[in-house]
Amino acid sequence: LSDRLGNVFDRLKGRGSLNEGDVREAMREVRIALLEADVALPVVRRFVDAVTEKAIGSEVLKSVTPGQQVVKIVNDELVDMLGGEKVEGLNLNAKPPVVIMMVGLQGSGKTTTTAKLGKLLREKHGKKAMMASLDVNRPAAQEQLKILGEQVDVATLPIVPGQQPLDIARRAMESAKLQAADVLLLDTAGRLHVDEALMAEMKAINSVSTPTEVLLVVDSLTGQDAVNVAQSFTGEVPLTGVVLTRMDGDARGGAALSMRYVTGKPIKFAGTGEKLDAIEAFDPNRVAGRILGMGDVVSLVEKAATAIKEEEAEALAKKMAKGEFDLDDLRMQLKQMQNMGGLGALAGMMPGMKKAKAAMQQSGMDDKVLIHMDAIIGSMTPKERKMPKLLNAKRKKRVAAGSGTQVQEVNKVLKMHQEMAKAMKQIKKMGGLKGLGALFG
Ligand code: GDP
Ligand code: MG
Repeated sequence: LSDRLGNVFDRLKGRGSLNEGDVREAMREVRIALLEADVALPVVRRFVDAVTEKAIGSEVLKSVTPGQQVVKIVNDELVDMLGGEKVEGLNLNAKPPVVIMMVGLQGSGKTTTTAKLGKLLREKHGKKAMMASLDVNRPAAQEQLKILGEQVDVATLPIVPGQQPLDIARRAMESAKLQAADVLLLDTAGRLHVDEALMAEMKAINSVSTPTEVLLVVDSLTGQDAVNVAQSFTGEVPLTGVVLTRMDGDARGGAALSMRYVTGKPIKFAGTGEKLDAIEAFDPNRVAGRILGMGDVVSLVEKAATAIKEEEAEALAKKMAKGEFDLDDLRMQLKQMQNMGGLGALAGMMPGMKKAKAAMQQSGMDDKVLIHMDAIIGSMTPKERKMPKLLNAKRKKRVAAGSGTQVQEVNKVLKMHQEMAKAMKQIKKMGGLKGLGALFG
């Protein structure tokens, strides 16, 4: 895609704002890219329409090319549709045992994901989990879960041969209560295709177990097909989220966009391998990059180019070359960090930033803190910003009061400034400014 878009965008270069013709032409290529990534056709249509409308007439910033501008609009919209910046974990807000029901086609990865979640709940959430297989269709399906349970050290419901799914569900609920389990994971049977018998079974299990989470497990490699599956389940059981498996394969991630569109539910996890710890929180940014066929780095650089005006970067580079770095510069950096997508996005992007980031994390900082820090520096006098040494206890108190924070937080800002100034000096020593210049130039 990048190549193809590159051509279109070269032609777009040097215009003040994106006109309808420009955008429609670019969108034809985006449409093809989405179809190639296996996004379902109705979803492609809706997406392209939404982005076209947004893009037409939007200003092309001086520091970026129209191509970058459109890529950013497309990318942002994609991230937005995939769930935005919010991380959707499991909802465990219910009276224990909290029931999580897994549904999906045969082979989609339900049983594996059940075990992965069991492990995650035990290790990361410190929860006592219990698992039960309600799959009486496939021979040895219940044994499969039992073996996985042993591997992840999560209890499974003892198997009673011949028992039917609803009775197993009831027994599982009883047993989970008796053993004071926090969470009960119900692994259900799939079919090769969605059929009425399967739906009836899922509905019945849903009504006897009243799950807090009903997770649809979908194989990301099935692309277009996944949409039909999602559609069938959506009307029948109250889905609360989606798990996309086999994201380690060469799927371009189109199924993610389709799932989100059809179910309207968050994609909560991505399965990334057969091993039982191969599960990750779903990352809209990364998947958007994958769908568009652009690396994460490319989009970061584009964000940086958008965020940093060239003159500012140059002025900062000069200061840094001299080993000067005051609180005004820190404040500017913080603003840019926010524009670029926060602390996480910056990791490893700039030399010297890694150190500063480590220092920030050590002092317990996250993105919300960026806003506080800005307020703190804003409450200092220009003189104090140039000479942080001036900030004695009395002045710190004033700054804290002025910014609605605590002296401790003011101290953290000062510590961070020191760390960064130190890092900058080191960059200077290594003569590493060239790398920075290339990134922001
Ligand atoms: P079920 O029929 O829905 O219960 O599917 P299973 O859990 O039995 O999984 C079917 C196959 O897919 C097994 O061989 C799993 O190891 C494999 N599998 C499940 N999730 C993933 C994944 O995220 N990545 C890869 N590579 N394989 C997976
Ligand atoms: Mg299974």
